[in-house]
Amino acid sequence: SNHINVIGAGLAGSEAAYQIAKRGIPVKLYEMRGVKPTPQHKTSNFAELVCSNSLRGDSITNAVGLLKEEMRQLDSLIISSADETRVPAGGALAVDREGFAELVTSKVSNHPLIEVIRAEVTEIPDDAITVIASGPLTSDDLAAKIHALNDGDGFYFYDAAAPIVDISSIDMSKVYLKSRYDKGEAAYLNAPMTKEEFQAFQEALVDAEVAEIKSFEKEKYFEGCMPIEVMAARGFKTMLFGPMKPVGLENPNETYTVTKRDGTTYETSVPYAVVQLRQDDAAASLYNIVGFQTHLKWGEQKRIFRMIPGLENAEFVRYGVMHRNSYMDSPNLLTQTFQSKNKDNLFFAGQMTGVEGYVESAASGLVAGINAAKLFEEAAPVVFPETTAIGALPYYVIHANSKNFQPMNVNFGIIKELEGERIRDKKERYTAIAERALKDLTDYLDV
Ligand code: FAD
Repeated sequence: SNHINVIGAGLAGSEAAYQIAKRGIPVKLYEMRGVKPTPQHKTSNFAELVCSNSLRGDSITNAVGLLKEEMRQLDSLIISSADETRVPAGGALAVDREGFAELVTSKVSNHPLIEVIRAEVTEIPDDAITVIASGPLTSDDLAAKIHALNDGDGFYFYDAAAPIVDISSIDMSKVYLKSRYDKGEAAYLNAPMTKEEFQAFQEALVDAEVAEIKSFEKEKYFEGCMPIEVMAARGFKTMLFGPMKPVGLENPNETYTVTKRDGTTYETSVPYAVVQLRQDDAAASLYNIVGFQTHLKWGEQKRIFRMIPGLENAEFVRYGVMHRNSYMDSPNLLTQTFQSKNKDNLFFAGQMTGVEGYVESAASGLVAGINAAKLFEEAAPVVFPETTAIGALPYYVIHANSKNFQPMNVNFGIIKELEGERIRDKKERYTAIAERALKDLTDYLDV
């Protein structure tokens, strides 16, 4: 074939199309908006930002800032367009929403090698190498085809995710490692609570402020996926029979004195309530709070979840969310270049691959676009070093635990650790990681 198809002109698809075209290969770019809307987009411009107008932190001591800087070096269309349309926002890169989307639209549409086709794609094309970047709101017909490609499995719709904490911010003296009833390997960090602590926590959850619910998000809740604040509101003890159940989780470091109704007391090592944290990434640097999917505002999550013993200074690498989000079982279905394991000439990019966020989506479009071009040229694939943010993100997505796989923002926890002794000061550590990343990227590009 004499071209590459790209499906979806969002953050990822626009970037992929640009990366392919700048390598001299013709692109057919399909976008349905203009013909068929999504439940969230408001215009038919490419790379429309569906919610916030911020591409988040701009300093390289911030992982998303580092990712952006790496993308600048790789001539990213999305980042250069953001830089050109930026608005003042303190330490963040925020953009003029319309100006940004219009600029991306015009750069893509006016590229001599990109042909824009306004149509809904309902079949996975077979005429050429194809990058599917149809996003978390992929239209139903195409979603069904992706489902079928993956044997009817591996393309989820989820509307809930629990917050994820960086392990280096957990006070390990207050939690203990154990699996319930000691079944299997000790796999959970357990944060014990006394009755008084639990009561304060439960009340805080009941009184907390929830985020505004958009109409399409009311669609359905999976059973067993109830927001923690909803569970808290059902009754004082509801959480104790759900995610905070203490049985089988004896605390090896503590005995508790329990007063019975008749006034007599007894001693036990089982706490009144337990919050469990489960490893979330292969490197064991990230832990999710089990069963704590939530619709609370982010500030409320930080305030209330920091009441959990050991989490007083917790850093949340992502907050719990509840919104529609279709994404693939990438650990089983994709390679590190975002190529499908089931179909050689097919790539995926964007939020649907299990990266989370505007910048991350564009970054995956960049990686998939370059590699689609490499495949077209019959050249070796491009796999960025794991010491860089743009290398760590695909690495994470491919090596995450498939069973609990959920979309992930870029963060320092997924970038390969520095060699040698751990630098204690966080800012110094992040600076060292960032400097190494930019150097390794330059070295890689020189080869
Ligand atoms: P999109 O930008 O959605 O692009 C996909 C494109 O494919 C769309 O233009 C769509 O019209 C098109 N398309 C879909 N199906 C077809 C088809 N069959 N044929 C042709 N075209 C098709 N991230 C942040 O960083 N900050 C936020 O504030 C934020 N808020 C979000 C709010 C919501 C409600 C959602 C759902 C996500 C949010 N995200 C946010 C997450 C994510 O960053 C965005 O969804 C981002 O737009 C994903 O980029 P993408 O390229 O993967 O998908």
